[in-house]
Amino acid sequence: MFFYNSNLRYNRFSDHLRHLYGVKVYKVTLDAGFTCPNRDGTISYEGCVFCDNGGSFSQLYPNNISIKQQLDIGINLSKQKYKAQKFLAYFQAYSNTYKPVNELKSIYNQALAHDDVIGMSIGTRPDCIDEQKLDLIASYTENHYVWLEYGLQSVHDKSLKFINRGHTFKTFKNALELTQKHNINVCAHIILGLPNETRNDMLETAKVLADLGVNGVKIHLLCVLNNTRLAKLYFQGKIPIMEEDEYVETVCDFLELLPSEVTIHRLAGNGLKPNMLAPGWLSKKFVVLNKIDKLLELRNSYQGAKLKN
Ligand code: SF4
Repeated sequence: MFFYNSNLRYNRFSDHLRHLYGVKVYKVTLDAGFTCPNRDGTISYEGCVFCDNGGSFSQLYPNNISIKQQLDIGINLSKQKYKAQKFLAYFQAYSNTYKPVNELKSIYNQALAHDDVIGMSIGTRPDCIDEQKLDLIASYTENHYVWLEYGLQSVHDKSLKFINRGHTFKTFKNALELTQKHNINVCAHIILGLPNETRNDMLETAKVLADLGVNGVKIHLLCVLNNTRLAKLYFQGKIPIMEEDEYVETVCDFLELLPSEVTIHRLAGNGLKPNMLAPGWLSKKFVVLNKIDKLLELRNSYQGAKLKN
């Protein structure tokens, strides 16, 4: 079993990047002015039940600044704070393939023109992709490092319906197959702790993603943010929130079912702190990550340990 960081029992994406480039590589988050069909009325106006007005965007820049200005700010900060030397432009806010191809090309080109940027990661929905858009994105892979990040959240349609995702698992599967034909790296975002999902349901998501051959997984815990429909349900007592130890155990179980070549882009997301209602324990994210490391060690286990072959 090979792990890029010998101190860890799973393959962290940041270690994978260091292995590839020999230096610290950092993702700079961008808001390129996209919207989302689950927000603009094409599918619904309400959006996913957990989504706040930022469209899952976790970094705030002054309003209306260009992609280059956002990159300049983000890159300078990460050089100082993390000693990063190379950067990926991370199109994070809303659905970053939800425009005509010619506009996408202009937006992506602006990011890749930046001297310090070696590639990009594009966050989007699986129903916002088609052959032409994938042709465009694939055209960048010759000279840049490129990922597509699909919000999936769960392989169970009952859960997708509950969170008002506006697409089914089949939509994701079709998008993934098309993307794989274009040889583009795919990271799937999933959420643990969705109401009405058992631990087995969550682990089924891991098994299916492993079978489908995704290249990366980003794991989030269901978090309640202010100004969301989830917050209303939470205040009505309808949303149970996972306890820390239960989350740590589930993450370890989940990792044991993913092949070691799948890079782990995140093990616990968190909202901007002032905006987060629950769970409080996630504000100490480093504690959660330490507990995951310790439990894997205690089990003498690792990413992929429970794969049959
Ligand atoms: S797809 Fe993303 S941006 Fe759109 S409503 Fe859901 S979480 Fe928000």
